[in-house]
Amino acid sequence: MANYPHKRLRRLRYNPIVRDMIRETELSKNDLIFPLFVVPGEKVRNPIKSMPGNFQLSVDELVKECKEVASLGIPAIILFGIPEHKDEQGSEAYDENGIVQKAIRAIKAEVKDLLVITDVCMCEYTSHGHCGVLKGEEILNDETVSLLAKEAISHAEAGADMVAPSDMMDGRVLAIRKALDYKGFSNIPIMSYAAKYSSGYYGPFRDAAESTPAFGDRRSHQMDIGNGDEAIREVESDVEEGADIVMVKPAGPYLDIIWRVKEKFGMPTAAYQVSGEFSMIKAAAQNDWIDGERVMIESLVSIKRAGADMILTYFAKDAARYLDKVRK
Ligand SMILES: [Zn+2]
Repeated sequence: MANYPHKRLRRLRYNPIVRDMIRETELSKNDLIFPLFVVPGEKVRNPIKSMPGNFQLSVDELVKECKEVASLGIPAIILFGIPEHKDEQGSEAYDENGIVQKAIRAIKAEVKDLLVITDVCMCEYTSHGHCGVLKGEEILNDETVSLLAKEAISHAEAGADMVAPSDMMDGRVLAIRKALDYKGFSNIPIMSYAAKYSSGYYGPFRDAAESTPAFGDRRSHQMDIGNGDEAIREVESDVEEGADIVMVKPAGPYLDIIWRVKEKFGMPTAAYQVSGEFSMIKAAAQNDWIDGERVMIESLVSIKRAGADMILTYFAKDAARYLDKVRK
């Protein structure tokens, strides 16, 4: 039986005050994590061409940037390092004087109230640009896992508040958890890139992190774009291994995965709105094809509505400024 005319869903949409009252999902600054790229040198602020408004920063400039990020009320950053020197074993990844380790110490010394998360992977540090140690063209899983554990420890020793392994090797969460605990870092949480897809949306990031593989691609460890059940198995194994927060990456094209992961595990869930998602919106906005601010917020609210508790996004600063503006 039809419920019209006594039932009218538009009734709650006429008055803007009522609209605000019944909104189910609202973006907050507490949802935001800002990715940053640190490079060697001083006073370096290289614009990343394919990611307008983002820069490769030397440690001194990074500290300034972090002060601004904190003053905007953004609670956290995630750090990616571009080392001076790359080699087959990616040895700067776990060097106490590596670029990320220096950056963490500088931020921790100078910036208050900012959570420093570090990306843990080998691809920025290896001369071949792959996420692990190679034998011929194969990425060796277990050998890579032990280097990742060393890398995570060196980040924790430098003062990182949380580590985020992004490599997608099997067993790395357990290895990192054991290594951190053994070294006395049992309180450092692990945010695992649990369901990370082999995605074309990472294109601009590889400019930023200078981590394009010298040959081949990442399909032997990152997930196939067509798979959903497999994402559940990936997340399940990371949860069993001790992940504290699980991540889905990319975010916008994988909202169904975010939803399924949140429904199934009820874990604190992160989503990474990756460089390609960001750059497409920026580019369209620069051409006046879309209202950039409106689409930015819509993209972030959608990710949150799908179930994400936190969003890694290059829009973090823009979104924080927007939230200040609308709250006035
Ligand atoms: Zn990698």
